[in-house]
Amino acid sequence: MSVQVVAAKMAEVELKDVPTGKDLPAESPMTPTSEGKSLARNDPHEAGFSAAASPTAEPSSAKAGDGSLGLLTPNPAKMPQASAMKRTDPQQNGGEAFVNRDGTVAEAPRMKKIQFADQKQEFNKRPSKIGRRSLSRSISQSSTDSYSSAASYTDSSDDETSPRDKQQKNSKGNGDFCIKNIKQSDFGRREIEIAEQEMPALMALRKRAQGEKPLAGAKVVGCTHITAQTAVLMETLSALGAQCRWAACNIYSTQNEVAAALAEGGFSVFAWKGESEDDFWWCIDRCVNVEGWQPNMILDDGGDLTHWIYKKYPNMFKKIKGIVEESVTGVHRLYQLSKAGKLCVPAMNVNDSVTKQKFDNLYCCRESILDGLKRTTDVMFGGKQVVVCGYGEVGKGCCAALKAMGSIVYVTEIDPICALQACMDGFRLVKLNEVIRQVDIVITCTGNKNVVVREYLDRMKNGCIVCNMGHSNTEIDVASLRTPELTWERVRSQVDHVIWPDGKRIVLLAEGRLLNLSCSTVPTFVLSITATTQALALIELYNAPEGRYKQDVYLLPKKMDEYVASLHLPTFDAHLTELTDEQAKYLGLNKNGPFKPNYYRY
Ligand code: NAD
Repeated sequence: MSVQVVAAKMAEVELKDVPTGKDLPAESPMTPTSEGKSLARNDPHEAGFSAAASPTAEPSSAKAGDGSLGLLTPNPAKMPQASAMKRTDPQQNGGEAFVNRDGTVAEAPRMKKIQFADQKQEFNKRPSKIGRRSLSRSISQSSTDSYSSAASYTDSSDDETSPRDKQQKNSKGNGDFCIKNIKQSDFGRREIEIAEQEMPALMALRKRAQGEKPLAGAKVVGCTHITAQTAVLMETLSALGAQCRWAACNIYSTQNEVAAALAEGGFSVFAWKGESEDDFWWCIDRCVNVEGWQPNMILDDGGDLTHWIYKKYPNMFKKIKGIVEESVTGVHRLYQLSKAGKLCVPAMNVNDSVTKQKFDNLYCCRESILDGLKRTTDVMFGGKQVVVCGYGEVGKGCCAALKAMGSIVYVTEIDPICALQACMDGFRLVKLNEVIRQVDIVITCTGNKNVVVREYLDRMKNGCIVCNMGHSNTEIDVASLRTPELTWERVRSQVDHVIWPDGKRIVLLAEGRLLNLSCSTVPTFVLSITATTQALALIELYNAPEGRYKQDVYLLPKKMDEYVASLHLPTFDAHLTELTDEQAKYLGLNKNGPFKPNYYRY
C-alpha cells in the first residue's frame, strides 16, 4: 500500500477515540508491538552518522567501535569536564495548579476558598476567550504524563490582548511567530542560560557536532511544553542543522519569556501561557500549515500534533521520516495505530527508554516528594511516621528520601518481590489498616485505584497529610470525601483541609492528583535526560537508512540509551572504567556497548 493511501486511511482514525492514559491497562500499552525487532541489541555505528543499527541485528553481529565513528560514539576523553557544568537550581517557587485530567474541577459540598496572591494569576483565571474553549483536550493528557518545569516570572495579567491579535517582529524584522510579548526575550534568554547549565548532554552534543550536522535538512515540527529546557533542546537541534517550528503541548505550561527569547533567536514559535482550546489548535496549525516549508520529522508530546497532521494534512506523511513521542498517552496512541496497521511512518517511543524511566520514576520522585510536601505543608520530616503504598520505582524513591530525612517509613505492597525488597532496604512491610491510625503522612504510588478509601480516611489521625505520587488521581478515593458531613477548607494553593464533624482534619494535597507535578517543579537535570533522548531519537530516525525502521513503534536502541547516560557523567566528574579486550571477550561484549541485554533490570 502506498504511503499516500495509508496516509489517507490514517485520516479516518480519530485519535480522540483512542483510550486516554487514564484508561490504559497496566502493561499492554508499553509492550512494543514488534518486541523482537525493536528490542534487539544493536550496533549504532553501522550507517555513517546514524547511531543505531538495524533493529533486527543480533548481539553477535555487534561490531567493535573505535570511538571515532561519529558524533554519537561515547568518548569519555572528549566529554566536557565537570568544572564547566556548575549545578544550579533554576527553578524557584513555581508551584503550578493543573486542573483535573478531564478538565473538570469538582466542587466540595461545602468549600471555603481562600484566594492567595500566588493563586490569583493564570491557573485559576480563565483565559478571556473562555467561550471558545473546552479544556478537555489539551489539559487532560500531555499535561499530566510529561513534565514541564515551567515557572514564568514575567507574565503580565495587564496585557489582555490575544497574541493572535498582535503584530510582532523580532529585532531582525522577522514576524513568523506568535507569542505573548517579544519584549520579554531578555528574561527568557537568562532562563535558557540557566537551564543550559543543568543540561550537559545537549551542550556536549552541540560541541561535538561542530562541523558535523547530523540534522542538516531536517525540518522538525515540535509540540512540547515550551520551557527553558525545551529551548535548550530546540537550539541544540538547530546547532545540529535542523529547522524547527514549535507549538505548546499544554495551554498553561509555556514560559512566555522563553517563547520570546526563541522568537528573538529566529525560531518560529506559536505558544503562550493561557491559550484557549481554539488557540491551541491554531498554534499547531501555524506550525505545519506554512507555505514553502514542510516538516520531515515530528517531535510530539501527547500525540496532539501527530493527530492534527493525520487529520488535516495526511499527505504530509509522504515526506515525514519519523515521529518521536515522549508521553505515555502519545506512545499509547502510536501503539494503537500500529496495531491497527495505520501507522504510516516509524515512531520512536522515548518514554520507555531505560535512562529516562529511571530519572522520571526513581530519581525525580526521590527529590520531588520532599519538594512537594515542603512547599505545600512546611512539614518537618524527622521522626514523622510515613506510610508509602507501593514499592515500585516511585515508591523506592519516596522511601529513600524520607528515610534519609529521619522519617519512620512503612511500606505496603501486593507483590512479594517488591515487598521483600522493601524489607531488605530496612522498611517495615505492613497492611495499611495496621498503621493508618498512627501515621502522619500517607503517600500512594501504586498506579492502582482505591488504595486509600474512605474507611482509611475516617481512621486517620488529626493532621494526617494525604497525597498521591501515582499517575492518576484514582489512588485516593477523593470522591468519597465529598459528602455533606465533611467540610472542605482550601488553606493554600493545592492544599485542602477536610474536616470531620468532630473537628478532626486531614490535609489533602492536590486533590489526590500527582503531588510533584501539581505542587513542585521538575529538576532540569531530569528533563535533560529526556531532551537528550529525544534529540538522539530524531537523529537516529532522520539518518536511518531506508528499511531500518518500518511503520512501527520502536524503543531507542540500548546503545543510545547508554550514550545518553554517558553524556551526563562528566557533570559528576565520573570516570567510567573501560573493558579490556580480554574482559570484553570474556563477557562476550563489544567494548563500546551495549553492555546489558534488553531484559536486564537496572
Ligand atoms: P511500579 O509498577 O514500579 O510500582 C508500583 C508498585 O505498586 C508495584 O510494585 C505494585 O506491586 C504496587 N501496588 C499495586 N497495587 C498496590 C496496592 N493496592 N497496594 C500496595 N502496593 C500496590 O510503578 P512506578 O514506576 O513506581 O510508578 C507508580 C506510579 O507512579 C504510576 O502510576 C506511574 O505512572 C507514576 N509515576 C509518577 C511519577 C511522578 O513524577 N510522580 C513519575 C513516574 C511515574
